[in-house]
Amino acid sequence: MKNIKAKNMNPSNKIMRAAIFYGPQQVRLEEVSIPNIDSDEVLVKIRAALTCGTDRKMYLRGHHLFNPPFVFGHEFSGDIIKVGKKVRDFEPGMRVTAANSAPCNHCFYCKKGDFNLCENLYIHLSGAFAEYIKVPAAIVAQNLFSIPENVSYKEAALLEPLSCVVHGIEESNINLGDTVVINGAGPIGLMYLQLARLRGAKVIIADQLEERLKLASKLGAYKTINVSKVKNPVEEVKKITEGGRGADVVIEAVGLPEVWEQSISMVRKGGTVNLFGGCERGTKISIDTSLIHYSQINIKGVFHYNPQQVKRAFNIICNKIIDIDALITYEFPLSEISTVIEMMLAHKGIKIAVIP
Ligand SMILES: [Zn+2]
Ligand SMILES: [Zn+2]
Repeated sequence: MKNIKAKNMNPSNKIMRAAIFYGPQQVRLEEVSIPNIDSDEVLVKIRAALTCGTDRKMYLRGHHLFNPPFVFGHEFSGDIIKVGKKVRDFEPGMRVTAANSAPCNHCFYCKKGDFNLCENLYIHLSGAFAEYIKVPAAIVAQNLFSIPENVSYKEAALLEPLSCVVHGIEESNINLGDTVVINGAGPIGLMYLQLARLRGAKVIIADQLEERLKLASKLGAYKTINVSKVKNPVEEVKKITEGGRGADVVIEAVGLPEVWEQSISMVRKGGTVNLFGGCERGTKISIDTSLIHYSQINIKGVFHYNPQQVKRAFNIICNKIIDIDALITYEFPLSEISTVIEMMLAHKGIKIAVIP
């Protein structure tokens, strides 16, 4: 707490409510000072925040990029309350949403154009489950957007995860008419489903929760596989795909080493596997070397996003190209954050909106 007050907040300022993360499985709703902004920063009154798989993982095991204590949550939208005197493009009263990081533009990776691998992405923003959030200068300059009237706060708050999925789709090498398997029908899997269909793919999606698979069917999945009801998900995919060859593209959106391994076994010769779901640090998988050599499969990891992908995700939201409302299955006030966390842990619903 001391840390937060000293570094980010002006103790003489007014008080706000915020969900503070102290360590794995320790989040408490407390009163803290409203953040104080510098000349190139923006203060936003949060109108909607969303839960995310990253929040779930972070709640259970912490995150190597964040040192507690900090305000929990990272997907949000709201109204600008105050702007620093050097801020040109934004003013109080604007409805805005932001991605949760921005590249530094001067490190080794930024100079190569690999902005998602920026060495200074520690400017990762946290603080969505609160009444106010301070948007740092790098994000104001690159990844803060004014939302049009016809877009709701809840829809706009999807910007960060959708940017990651836009990146993932761009790396997945999907061609018109391809068969794509998505492992995981959580929020990320369901965004992949919608974007893969826009790329002209027939999508098979697998999960262990019937509720999620039903929603996947509604959103256009060609076939669903309930992995808790089949003996071997890999065999199941082979059965459904042409000639038993496996899928052209397989996307892992779960983040478990065993599902990574299954995903690799589901792809056809020469196909692409996108291992998107981040696993616990230090975990390992084993791969049959012949799949890489004789079957020439392409295996890639996809992490985070670059500013171009954030812009494309923002356009998708503004132009209503995918169904976002279907992904936001519950809504709670911030005062019920502990219920929200319990539901998130129990995989209830898809995304939960938290309204301060
Ligand atoms: Zn997220
Ligand atoms: Zn950088």
